[in-house]
Amino acid sequence: MNKPNIVILGAGYGGMMTTVNLQKKLGANQANITLVNENNYHYISTSLHETAAGTLHHDRTRVTIKDVIKSNVNFIEDTVVSIHPDKKTVTLKNQELTYDVLVVALGFEMATFGIPGLEENAFAITDTDSSRLIREQIEYNFAMYHNEKEKTEGRLNFIVGGAGFTGIEFVGELANRIPELCKEYDVSPSEVRIVSVEGAPTVMPGFDEALIEYATNSLEARGVEIITGAMLKEVKPDGIVFERDGELEEIKSLTTVWAAGVKANSIVEQSGFETNRGKVQVREDMRAPDYDDVFVVGDCALIMNNETERPYPPTAQIAVQAAEVVAANVKAHIENNAMHGFEPNLMGTVASLGHNDAIGSILNDRKIFGWKATVMKKVIDNRYYFKLGGIPLLLKKGKFNIFY
Ligand code: FAD
Ligand code: NAD
Repeated sequence: MNKPNIVILGAGYGGMMTTVNLQKKLGANQANITLVNENNYHYISTSLHETAAGTLHHDRTRVTIKDVIKSNVNFIEDTVVSIHPDKKTVTLKNQELTYDVLVVALGFEMATFGIPGLEENAFAITDTDSSRLIREQIEYNFAMYHNEKEKTEGRLNFIVGGAGFTGIEFVGELANRIPELCKEYDVSPSEVRIVSVEGAPTVMPGFDEALIEYATNSLEARGVEIITGAMLKEVKPDGIVFERDGELEEIKSLTTVWAAGVKANSIVEQSGFETNRGKVQVREDMRAPDYDDVFVVGDCALIMNNETERPYPPTAQIAVQAAEVVAANVKAHIENNAMHGFEPNLMGTVASLGHNDAIGSILNDRKIFGWKATVMKKVIDNRYYFKLGGIPLLLKKGKFNIFY
């Protein structure tokens, strides 16, 4: 191959780490590396719940892409419209690209399951823009409260649909933020409700029972109402409808945040790749089954766990690990060398419950709670900054308020 064009679509965990690894592995004369992303920044999606709750400014949860990539990478700020793997082209909003090797890393979007009113009336924690909109929506309703003579029912009811990890991390942050907002806007805490609505019998279904109990107690102690066994059925401009024990119930609210599931970026399915549940079920070497020159990484890739015969969950942890293998395999591909297989090495899961509480199951199912888990969560976040941009990025964006 004569100085091949390597094109990477998406600058999330998978795309950024693939780019950073490739820029180290390949000399400027070996390949043209192009990274495409719709914004000039990489948002840290694992911290978006903090942006959404207003507990962490969005500039602390995003990184300017040019601060991390080197001059041997061409960065294009544009939106991917479609991929044409048969023609080896990608259509962007403002131009057309051709590639020799493609890495698809376009991430996740909200899964709405066809629930009526969801797209029109609910908010979602998907990117920086959607998260700061939630922050503004919450604050706007506090600001409105004393500015209307006839109080709108449910103005200070904040509903979160889905109590998986995203929903739980968000209500944990919100439970910390509400007392601050009450003080700022002279509102009694008794006027405010945070309601978590979960379809399964417990929050974080499938996670360790003791950790679920700890999380439930921690959140309820801070005023969060947790309703389990309740499937959200409709989102209206002024409230939600959910079904519990065969009965429909309604809660008034102007703010419903949907955190009940994600799916792969729909561009993947629309571009004609062979898909399974909307994702590309990649080969061991992370290539698409039907195209030798297309790699897929992050939430667009479906990686089967051969032990459980179920797909691995879509996580940043796996996206970062897979990106290292993808970068090595892209290099091997253009040099006609053998590629490596990828097997996730799960290090555990740590979920925050607000800035001063967390839970985790790490290294051989060791359970951690409270401040130890909070510290571990920050260590994980800081480790990523170090991997991505070394000590300079760690010092700029890292979370050092370890015992806060
Ligand atoms: P993404 O991070 O989704 O990045 C996709 C990139 O592509 C973005 O930069 C986006 O702007 C860009 N893009 C999308 N469409 C286009 C387009 N059409 N044109 C151009 N650019 C485009 N996982 C963990 O392992 N640990 C955690 O603690 C954790 N916490 C989480 C907390 C929250 C609140 C959420 C929502 C998720 C969390 N996850 C966590 C899951 C994790 O964030 C995802 O698995 C991970 O972000 C997937 O990485 P990715 O590279 O596939 O895509
Ligand atoms: P999820 O699919 O893990 O959880 C969605 C939750 O919504 C489930 O509990 C489900 O039962 C519930 N649900 C679905 N439909 C519903 C309905 N109609 N009404 C009520 N409840 C409904 O999604 P997520 O929490 O967004 O997580 C996405 C991925 O990101 C997962 O792989 C997760 O592990 C990862 N993540 C990890 C962390 C962490 O490690 N700290 C944090 C956030 C997300």
